[in-house]
Amino acid sequence: MRNRKNNLRNKLGRGFLKLCPVCGKTKLFDSYVKLKPRCNKCKTNFAKFKTDDGPAYCTIFVVGHIIIPMIVFLESLDNPPPIEFQLTFWPAFTTILSIWLLPKMKGVFLAFQINVRDTSS
Ligand SMILES: [Zn+2]
Repeated sequence: MRNRKNNLRNKLGRGFLKLCPVCGKTKLFDSYVKLKPRCNKCKTNFAKFKTDDGPAYCTIFVVGHIIIPMIVFLESLDNPPPIEFQLTFWPAFTTILSIWLLPKMKGVFLAFQINVRDTSS
């Protein structure tokens, strides 16, 4: 059981780093979020796994839970930043954080699917 948990943790970590979840030696993506058809080292077939909208939903969920408390905290200060600053900073920060996190979430989703397939067979 412990070995299985460590194995899942390793796969999720490799997926988060955008590396092959099985071997960790090759990159997962051909471009921004376009998966390679298979791993060049361990020959794991990535094409049979579909992450669909899951990574986007999780990215929105995580980014929202980071951004909203920060906005609420800043607005609760006695002297919050000017609204002009906030109207430019928060959308830009949200966009950058989402663009950074989306491929990592896709890697995590793929790693989880590969782990489920490995443990079910
Ligand atoms: Zn591999």
